[in-house]
Amino acid sequence: MDCIFCKITAGEVPADILYTDEDVIAFRDINPQAPVHVLIIPGEHISTLAELPEEKATLVGHMVDVANRLARSEGISESGYRVVINCGKQGGQLVQHLHMHLLGGRQLAGSLG
Ligand code: AMP
Repeated sequence: MDCIFCKITAGEVPADILYTDEDVIAFRDINPQAPVHVLIIPGEHISTLAELPEEKATLVGHMVDVANRLARSEGISESGYRVVINCGKQGGQLVQHLHMHLLGGRQLAGSLG
């Protein structure tokens, strides 16, 4: 499958990986929008949030938990941070593999777009 995030998960494309477990992997965004910009993705290929099967909804909770842990290890837990999942074309999703952005380390804009 020609998916850049699946290639990162498989170790075929390098990434600055911060965390892995049997369900998720987290790595630094290649084009960071903030001093801390990490992507948390499922290892399994799920294209978008809209494609997440109901029985796998807890996966997103696990991704949030990993984001919280990374916020602590990256030192932004106290100052604050944002987690974002873009879904689909109008949601601004460019990579068709479900991912959560963890952003922090500066004052983020108040606008949600
Ligand atoms: P989105 O617009 O929500 O689909 O965000 C996709 C994100 O993936 C962007 O912030 C990109 O900078 C990031 N990205 C794309 N390719 C890579 C890569 N090879 N390694 C790390 N981040 C990437």
